[in-house]
Amino acid sequence: MGFRGGRPGGAVIDAKAQRAQNAAAPHVPDLGRRVIALFRPYAARLTLTALLVVVASALAVIPALIIERIFDDALFPPEGGPQLGLLTELVIVMIALFLVSSGLNVLQTWLTSSVGNRITGDLRMKLFAHLQHMELGFFTRTKTGVIQSRLQNDVGGVAGVLTNTLTSILGNVVTVIASLVAMLLIDWRLTIIAVILLPLLAVIQRRVGQVRARIAAQTQESLSQLTAITQETLSVSGILLAKSFNRQRAEEDRYAVETANQVRLQVRQTMSGQWFFGVVTVLMSSVPAVIYLVAGLLLAGGSTDITAGVIVAFTTVQARLLWPLISLMRVALDVQTSRALFARIFEYLDLEPAFTDAADASSVDRAPGPIGRVEFRGVGFRYPGASPESRPTLDGVSFTVEPGQHVAFVGPSGAGKTTILYLTPRMYDASEGSVRFAGADVRELTQESIIDHIGIVSQETYLFHATIRENLRYAKPDATEDELVAACRAANIHHVVEGFEDGYDTVVGERGYRLSGGEKQRIAIARVLLKDPPVLLLDEATSALDTVSERVVQEALDAASRGRTTLTIAHRLSTVLDADVIHVVDGGRIVESGTHDELLSAEGLYAELAAEQLAATRVLRAEERLAGRRAE
Ligand code: ATP
Repeated sequence: MGFRGGRPGGAVIDAKAQRAQNAAAPHVPDLGRRVIALFRPYAARLTLTALLVVVASALAVIPALIIERIFDDALFPPEGGPQLGLLTELVIVMIALFLVSSGLNVLQTWLTSSVGNRITGDLRMKLFAHLQHMELGFFTRTKTGVIQSRLQNDVGGVAGVLTNTLTSILGNVVTVIASLVAMLLIDWRLTIIAVILLPLLAVIQRRVGQVRARIAAQTQESLSQLTAITQETLSVSGILLAKSFNRQRAEEDRYAVETANQVRLQVRQTMSGQWFFGVVTVLMSSVPAVIYLVAGLLLAGGSTDITAGVIVAFTTVQARLLWPLISLMRVALDVQTSRALFARIFEYLDLEPAFTDAADASSVDRAPGPIGRVEFRGVGFRYPGASPESRPTLDGVSFTVEPGQHVAFVGPSGAGKTTILYLTPRMYDASEGSVRFAGADVRELTQESIIDHIGIVSQETYLFHATIRENLRYAKPDATEDELVAACRAANIHHVVEGFEDGYDTVVGERGYRLSGGEKQRIAIARVLLKDPPVLLLDEATSALDTVSERVVQEALDAASRGRTTLTIAHRLSTVLDADVIHVVDGGRIVESGTHDELLSAEGLYAELAAEQLAATRVLRAEERLAGRRAE
């Protein structure tokens, strides 16, 4: 395998394992407390919001109380005709209250929306930053789409809850309390009749919430699978693979199965609880009818304090109770549902990187040895998850590369060459022995300072869907135009870039697909040259190129490695010839070391590989000559 910038698309095979791992909402201790902690930085704004909500909601109930006076004192006073003066005053007060209350509502909506969206932004940013520090192994194990889905769909899913919940709870609780107080003031007996079923409804609501949380976890998981399929199949590599194997129909089927699952779950999630709200609505809407009946019974029983005003005011206030109550129940359901989403987010936030910098880690500049020295001392390594009984990927690997030396690693496929390069900048930690940089164990150094001194050119060149200039400046954001040109000249690519209509402003396309393999590699080499690191790790991909491109890329690599410590995975003898030392890797061990001539005369594995390659090269050259003759 090559020294890759990342695995494009991710594996399809681990889908089942991944799904099983994610199917239920993960258990996250202290979830409620941690969600509340998200609000802490916005305490001042939230207090102001709460104040506005309380005032607006309380104000909104007063008009209902005024109704009683309108009926009993202004429209139908006990004596005389309608009291127009009083009526006008009461109507003006009522309208003024509505105006103030909706003005406050607008202000409060702005405040909550800004707080809610900021918290969502904070959460997304926290998650993104956390994932940036996860080790490489996490990304080789996890589908890219699944990671993206947590950032997009799960964080997006809680956005609504963060924005609406608090105001909705506050506003509705205040309305409900104010309405209940008003109802009690009007008539306590009717109030009992109106609220008798509420405790039962609260219990049922809790059960519904639990079911919905479970469905929500499944919905989010299905959504992440959909994102993963999209990411895998609708990328350039994915679509190329599907087209070249005529698998588009199969990919459609795979997408159709997950889409159907998603549709089913979304409908289930929406519908779970609808019957409950149906019952609540019927019950609450029937209350006025029951009130009329009870009022009639009370009147028939000789009650004197039930007037038309009392009945109208009571039913008006009670009607105001209906929607806040239903909203509160819906919010409670949303909060329960969102627990599943928050749990998925916190689960990722709680992921511990396999290793981090030691507390007393120092910078490479303070390391005891010369910068540029790389040393492996008895290094053994197993990839995370590999069984302890299996053969280790690296076993007792020891070598030293002095500053400025060129060292090549050769050996059969799967021997462990790439793994050696991974361990040098501490992409993984050695299981045994130590990897040393500038005379210090890499575990005693900050990883950032190690990476600052290392340039990596991998087999699979990763370019962003941006201009050539932007891709180059990734290595050095403040690089001048002259520096860009100088790097590209040294990497043998400047003349090619100049030939493009848009020059350095040419957009390279998704992952650089608009460039040829050799051009992409040379851009990547120019990018490393801009970084100008003392140590270079090269995974030569020249084997994939024809002889002319190979020569051009080789020249670029030679230019890049001049004056730097260079560790190269060599696939062609041409590179190895110049190396100060060649290490032959086989089965995770260094089995031979020496110069080209020394190793040839040792007649070991290297001599075998060299003979094989010589024969292969002869065939290749003959084929190229034949192709050239045919073309003539
Ligand atoms: P090639 O010349 O084909 O690129 P290589 O010598 O560079 O091969 P490595 O890529 O270092 O070989 O792989 C060494 C062994 O480790 C192989 O058996 C490979 O299957 C295994 N391996 C590589 N990456 C991982 C990983 N992320 N998880 C588990 N095993 C891995």
